[in-house]
Amino acid sequence: MRRLSITLTVLILAILLSCATTGPGGKKDFILISDSQEVGLGQQFDAQVRSESKVLADRQWQNYFNDIGQRVVAVCDRKTIEYHFTVIESDDINAFATPGGYVYIYTGLLKLMESEAELAAVTSHEISHIVARHGVKRLQQALGLSVLIELVTGKSDSKTLETAIAIGLGVALSGYSRSNEREADEFGIHYMTLAGFNPKGATNMFEHMAAASPGKRNFFENLLATHPETQERISNANAKVRQYSADIRSRDLGKAHYTQMKARLP
Ligand SMILES: [Zn+2]
Repeated sequence: MRRLSITLTVLILAILLSCATTGPGGKKDFILISDSQEVGLGQQFDAQVRSESKVLADRQWQNYFNDIGQRVVAVCDRKTIEYHFTVIESDDINAFATPGGYVYIYTGLLKLMESEAELAAVTSHEISHIVARHGVKRLQQALGLSVLIELVTGKSDSKTLETAIAIGLGVALSGYSRSNEREADEFGIHYMTLAGFNPKGATNMFEHMAAASPGKRNFFENLLATHPETQERISNANAKVRQYSADIRSRDLGKAHYTQMKARLP
């Protein structure tokens, strides 16, 4: 009987909360965690990230990263939440997004890039993980049915929430699945191009990342020159970029401005 009522609850909730747009072209997915719950989790992740990392103390850089991010947000398929962009001072070659609209990039990764278009590519890729609810979907799977029902019906206690945060942050930091990465690469190139950037920034970025870590696994998406997945992602990106017109592919890459900004990095 209990099992039946749980099934029924899930069914009703699925009907009520299904069909969130999670990508270009009106792509939909079943999402049980609401925007406000996701944003609440995001705020807690953010507090944890800030307590464990050093936020770059350069207003100009934080504003620059935010400007690039907001340009992409303005054309993405999920504008109902606020997005926050933070540069973290660390030599790690890394960038990540957590559920709820939070995107972080490390100065170690910024130093490897050579243009604004590359920065837009990484930013757009991370925004795409949020649009596609990759973290939320992993969270839904990891939490299990009963916890999810508690969360969705508002009956969750603080312990449930703590568990959710721990899992969510773990998921966000451990990287997404291969198919999630493929999707974020594809959406990312689409959104950055819509926002007016040169999509070649994406392929340039992949090549720089792959070349920068010949001997060790690169924490940013595990890009590695000899890794078959990296090669596949580079060739997929190249194929997607080639579909754009010559005009779009010859847009300014923003090298001059980026070089100035890069010189400011500690
Ligand atoms: Zn990714």
